[in-house]
Amino acid sequence: MIKIEDLSKKFGDTEVLKGLNGSVSKGQVICVIGPSGGGKSTFLRCLNLLEKPTSGKVTFESNELTALNETQLNELREKMGMVFQSFNLFANMTVIENVKLAPVKVKNMSDDEANKLALSLLDQVGLQEKADAYPASLSGGQQQRVAIARALAMNPDVMLFDEPTSALDPEMVGEVLKVMQDLANDGMTMVVVTHEMGFAKNVADQVWFMDGGVFAEKGTPEQIFEHPKNDRTKDFLAKIL
Ligand code: ATP
Ligand code: MG
Repeated sequence: MIKIEDLSKKFGDTEVLKGLNGSVSKGQVICVIGPSGGGKSTFLRCLNLLEKPTSGKVTFESNELTALNETQLNELREKMGMVFQSFNLFANMTVIENVKLAPVKVKNMSDDEANKLALSLLDQVGLQEKADAYPASLSGGQQQRVAIARALAMNPDVMLFDEPTSALDPEMVGEVLKVMQDLANDGMTMVVVTHEMGFAKNVADQVWFMDGGVFAEKGTPEQIFEHPKNDRTKDFLAKIL
């Protein structure tokens, strides 16, 4: 579904991504782990070309994104949902208005249909009763679940998550991870940058360890967590586990 070939990114003279390769197939969950500053967010943003790679190719569903113009890109981006560390909900809109905004604006969905869709997505993330609340009245975990519902409203083929639980109080991490785990169980293709090693162990099909702008090691959770081969992977895991 996504193919990454020799992907590099420089900011000025600093090479942040150094010739990355990888592929994500339909239904797969990839967790990207690694130390701060290693390039994880930059990599994720290059997947939907929020960040423009300096060189290399990103292909999504047979479309070479790196060769497209902005209009063509925007169409394909609709198929790639993204959830960030900060929830980025519109503060002046209710929960349901946040969720149905894109389907109405971008897909010209009728208000009726969009309401139905939004309510079913809010149900999926356990927040139907908050439909008419404003984001400021929700906990961080609830806001993040709304952000996930909002991304799902465009019916994406893949979901990209950048440390979706890092800004949350510890007691709210679980409810967001649960929603993500349910999504994975339903067959959603996901690329998840995370520090939640439990999630990576239990949910990922593949774990990609990123350090210094390269994938220093890739493997199944079992390979990465139980039998890491690379010294940098070992060091990282020793520090955090
Ligand atoms: P963290 O775990 O802290 O989120 P990360 O692995 O996501 O880190 P990135 O945010 O991708 O790392 O950053 C990788 C490197 O690229 C860092 O050295 C960062 O300072 C640099 N960088 C990122 N974005 C920019 C930018 N817009 N301009 C200049 N340098 C940048
Ligand atoms: Mg980051």
